[in-house]
Amino acid sequence: MPLRMSTLFVRTLKEEPADADVKSHKLLHRASYIRRSAPGIYTWLPLGLRVLDKVEAIVRDEMSKAGSQEVHFPALLPAEPYEKSGRWEAFGEGIFRLQDRKKADYLLAPTHEEVFTLLVKDLYSSYKDLPASLYQIQTKYRDEARPRAGLLRGREFIMKDAYSFDTDDAGLDAAYEKMRKAYINVYNRLQLPFVMVEATPGAMGGSGTHEFLYPSEVGEDTYVRTDGGYAANVEAVTTVVPEELDYSDAPAAQVVHSPGTTTIATLVDFANTHHPREDRPWTAADTLKNVVCTVVHPDGEREVVVIGLPGDREVDLGRAAGTGMLGAGEVDLEPATDEDLEKHPELVKGFIGPGISLDQAVLGLEGSIKIRYLLDPRVVKGTRWVTGANEVDKHVFGLVVGRDFVGDEFIEAAEVVAGDPAPDGSGELQLARGVEIGQIFKLGTRYAEALGLSVLDENGKARVVTMGSYGIGVSRVLACIAEEHADDKGLVWPANLAPADVHIVATGKDAQVFDVAEELTAEVEKAGYTVLLDDRPKVSPGMKFGDAELLGMPTIVVVGRGLKDGVVELRDRATGETTNLPVDTAGQKIVDAIAEKLDAINNIELLEQ
Ligand code: ATP
Ligand code: MG
Repeated sequence: MPLRMSTLFVRTLKEEPADADVKSHKLLHRASYIRRSAPGIYTWLPLGLRVLDKVEAIVRDEMSKAGSQEVHFPALLPAEPYEKSGRWEAFGEGIFRLQDRKKADYLLAPTHEEVFTLLVKDLYSSYKDLPASLYQIQTKYRDEARPRAGLLRGREFIMKDAYSFDTDDAGLDAAYEKMRKAYINVYNRLQLPFVMVEATPGAMGGSGTHEFLYPSEVGEDTYVRTDGGYAANVEAVTTVVPEELDYSDAPAAQVVHSPGTTTIATLVDFANTHHPREDRPWTAADTLKNVVCTVVHPDGEREVVVIGLPGDREVDLGRAAGTGMLGAGEVDLEPATDEDLEKHPELVKGFIGPGISLDQAVLGLEGSIKIRYLLDPRVVKGTRWVTGANEVDKHVFGLVVGRDFVGDEFIEAAEVVAGDPAPDGSGELQLARGVEIGQIFKLGTRYAEALGLSVLDENGKARVVTMGSYGIGVSRVLACIAEEHADDKGLVWPANLAPADVHIVATGKDAQVFDVAEELTAEVEKAGYTVLLDDRPKVSPGMKFGDAELLGMPTIVVVGRGLKDGVVELRDRATGETTNLPVDTAGQKIVDAIAEKLDAINNIELLEQ
């Protein structure tokens, strides 16, 4: 049966949602694919659901080819397994928690590592049972601080999550490789450009991990690449650390009166005017900037830390938080508020420094102020800095790392800048933005250990299972496809994902127009394709064309004025190309046009498993 515009549950809209600044969000809303229910929570309407089904079918097919079997967990889960893994706490405010009538704790699962681990523990006990790989396509819940851009960042969203179970590292490596290939095939079949980048494990724990990003300005992730083939999420970039310097001849540090120099720019000006260097002018990179930040721990505790970094760089809060060094679980890093600062009056705003010598240390291991002092990796032993002297209007020049001060730890907290060297030596980093559409993790034994998943090996000895976890944001991917395949008139679905293969539009009042449109519909359906038929009697041609462009079927057929000359019009939605088809052979020609588009996609080369 065709989808009929006269009865289909769809209402095309002119207005964009008030909060929409991203194309895919506007179009999916205006074309009635989705409808907002609450912030970050959406209802799927018939057309949206059809695309979603097709996206899911491709994901299922590739999972199956990778040897993973589908299961389906509840979204509502007891807290206990998550307490055992430590994530009940670690997720902090990021999850939805609830209680049943007996006051037992539950959560709406944000991801399912714990219960997959328990399921395998429940049924498997021997090395002979492994390897195993399971997946589901499931609704996930995360109480995102900033839901945005429709499906791109929801609080309820659809994820494909797969998990692999192996007895050793070689097995995990093989499982990871299968998933990597499956992901590449999925995104290629979905006609979605992507880059695979090195990533950081964050709160998931584990060793290796890669993210798949859809390169786009609407993305919230920054990644870097080089012409030499390096690609990483900015969070995973490690600084190329300069060599330590010999400081045996370094002159003693000198405290100077530096009035009105509360910013790096004024400090550099001051230095060049009053204390010029002989070899070259001072630059911001010679100064050590000490930025007060607040770590927000999962339990809500606010911990003030100071981050010391070269003055020509800013702190990248996300990158620092992503290191996993700031604390256990999902920590956030924020600029310190006035309230945070009030608790540490010993920090002299604008003139903060580690102290003017080791025996007068203010920050760092020996420091009189007991807060963590975290240093950028460029602040290596022997380097000399201009920095605050912890007194109003005073700076210290020639402060030497190792001799005059030490930090508590090094941290990758500085922003990565275009032109920085790549850690693998493959050239200068270029920066770009993207949307995270998937991530694969080598989890290792963390969850298996926490939840007691082990199997007996050949010698009857218990061996902890090693796991991988592999996610694709299915609903987010759909939004990215809409973002990529659209123009100023509307959506332009790839042929294999469109809700219908062809949109047949009958225009005018003539009964014959409607009869011919029905006949063509029947013929196309007989060939096995789906038709969206605009059979609305009292809607203007302009309105119908506008709707067809907005809804985005890849092929549009117009049955209207041309009919008196014996032709119907075939339009390619993507290229705008139109062809007149003689009515008597039009059915077959339409079928051919559809088949050609589908073949082009179905014939793309895929990786073999
Ligand atoms: P992000 O950094 O964007 O918050 P994440 O790294 O927390 O994502 P994962 O835990 O890796 O997400 O989840 C696997 C996949 O689920 C992600 O790669 C992404 O495609 C998707 N995803 C995660 N959060 C959301 C969300 N709020 N809305 C839609 N999709 C999401
Ligand atoms: Mg991720």
